[in-house]
Amino acid sequence: MKFVRYEVNGRSPQIGLVVDNELIDLSGVAPSMQAIITLSDEGMAMIAQHANSSQRLPLEDVKLLAPLLPRRNIMCLGKNYADHAREMQMANAEPIELPKFPVVFTKATTSVSGPYDPIPFDPLVSEDVDWEVELAVIIGKEGKNIPAEQAMEYVFGYMVLNDVTARDLQRQGKQFFKGKSLDGYCPTGPWLVTRDELPNPHELDVRCLVNGVEKQASNTRNMIFDIPFTIAYLSRGMTLLPGDIIATGTPDGVGAARTPPEFLRPGDVLTSIVEGVGELRNLVTAV
Ligand code: MG
Repeated sequence: MKFVRYEVNGRSPQIGLVVDNELIDLSGVAPSMQAIITLSDEGMAMIAQHANSSQRLPLEDVKLLAPLLPRRNIMCLGKNYADHAREMQMANAEPIELPKFPVVFTKATTSVSGPYDPIPFDPLVSEDVDWEVELAVIIGKEGKNIPAEQAMEYVFGYMVLNDVTARDLQRQGKQFFKGKSLDGYCPTGPWLVTRDELPNPHELDVRCLVNGVEKQASNTRNMIFDIPFTIAYLSRGMTLLPGDIIATGTPDGVGAARTPPEFLRPGDVLTSIVEGVGELRNLVTAV
């Protein structure tokens, strides 16, 4: 199933289900995406039943919003594709070395934006705005010390996420948080795709385009640390909660590692695609 948050006729955000490019309103059934994520199997069956008997709206008639507003920071993996780890180390004149353990940082909840929202560009804040298309995993139930063999049972679903990054800010203080957390620097969506729709999340093409020109093209099979390992690692001694978002890292082709480096400018259109999940389109907009 594909779950969305959406807005129609200026009303407050509602939850919906997308079927065949049409939208089924679930606001009478589920008050929030968090409620959807924590539904029992019976609750999910009720949703499916409701969907069969409900009125449908054309998807074009609504505005899709960020599918999930996380309760705490998004957990992100850095350097989780070997080609990307290498390109960044070469660009920074660092020794080439693949991570032996996941490199984990976070993005602020307030960075989260919708699938078609603008990416703010303010030259007084950053001039080196870069792209990082990623597959994001949504945790479905609470867990601690989760064995890798059981980790997929803790996955509710997936969405596309672009880990937009202010490289200049990232470099200034050596820590990632500030450069990763500017408002609007985390386009997400367009929907949450439930786990059952992607039997193998490690075989998905991941692509990023700027103004229609392909900049990143890889496959989730190239992740260094796969989803079960990542969940097992993160949950070791640390509780994961339903609704947690884990961004699984970006492949090579980011702007900072290009010769010469390339960054986003107002008017640029950033397209982020994960096969079987969906596509984000965000216009870089001067503020
Ligand atoms: Mg990233």
